[in-house]
Amino acid sequence: MPSYLITGASRGLGLGFVTELLKKKENTVIATARNTAGSPGLQKLKQEHPDGRLILLDLDVTSADSIKTAAEATNKLLLGGLGNLISNAGVYYNGLKTFDELHVIYRIVEDLQKEVNFNITSQLLLLRAFVPLVRKSQAKKILVITSGLGSIQNAPYTPNLANGYSVAKAALNMLVRKYSAVLKNEGITTALLHPGWVGSTDIGNGISDWMNAYAPDYENLSLETSAAGCMKVLDTLTPKDNGEFFNHDGTKIPF
Ligand code: NDP
Repeated sequence: MPSYLITGASRGLGLGFVTELLKKKENTVIATARNTAGSPGLQKLKQEHPDGRLILLDLDVTSADSIKTAAEATNKLLLGGLGNLISNAGVYYNGLKTFDELHVIYRIVEDLQKEVNFNITSQLLLLRAFVPLVRKSQAKKILVITSGLGSIQNAPYTPNLANGYSVAKAALNMLVRKYSAVLKNEGITTALLHPGWVGSTDIGNGISDWMNAYAPDYENLSLETSAAGCMKVLDTLTPKDNGEFFNHDGTKIPF
């Protein structure tokens, strides 16, 4: 039975991934969020799927205890291991708006540190806790949702767009690429994925002013289109894709 665990599934893309995955009757989906009981989207899906294929689990990715508890619970729920881990939870503070905002340097540094901490410390703790479960499975796949803004090569095209967020996602990309080189030896396939610009979510909406002003032709994807594309990329991942950086449509993005 294909199994999936998604972080940050309370709303936005995470909820979209859960919705998309539940369309296949054979899938078991563990949707995690800081507060699953407080997510109207997850509660509605739970009511619509009383067959037990959707399991809700509380998981705060910034808490080592919460990650450990969720990993232990998942281990008991999925005896055959976790086939697919989808690390999706994200934050966007945007303190670092322009590089000459020196008068607010402390807030900039604070926001940047929070973003880097979220993308590095939380990601590392999550991977360390869940890799043993993925190792036990047949599918052995890990998908980390990042952003095209984390591409160092493409950075010259987005001046002053989400500077801190971009730095944090670039660091995430390196962490995951390095980690994937190790996991490859265990037959685990790990990939990075940019879901496209989805302006209807909170994070996507956070960059909409810049996008509308400077990149009016860049497609604003619907949640459904992005989620379907992202899950197709996950579905078609093979070991040769290990460590790669994909767009939602399956094309590659340069690091
Ligand atoms: P949203 O703001 O809609 O969702 C963010 C999700 O992350 C929420 O479910 C939120 O949960 C969760 N989250 C935040 N902090 C934590 C935490 N400590 N523990 C667990 N979950 C947490 O944004 P998106 O859906 O757009 O973002 C999803 C991912 O996609 C992010 O990694 C983002 O960087 C990436 N992305 C999005 C793009 C877009 O255009 N939308 C473009 C490129 C990348 P809660 O409800 O508890 O706050």
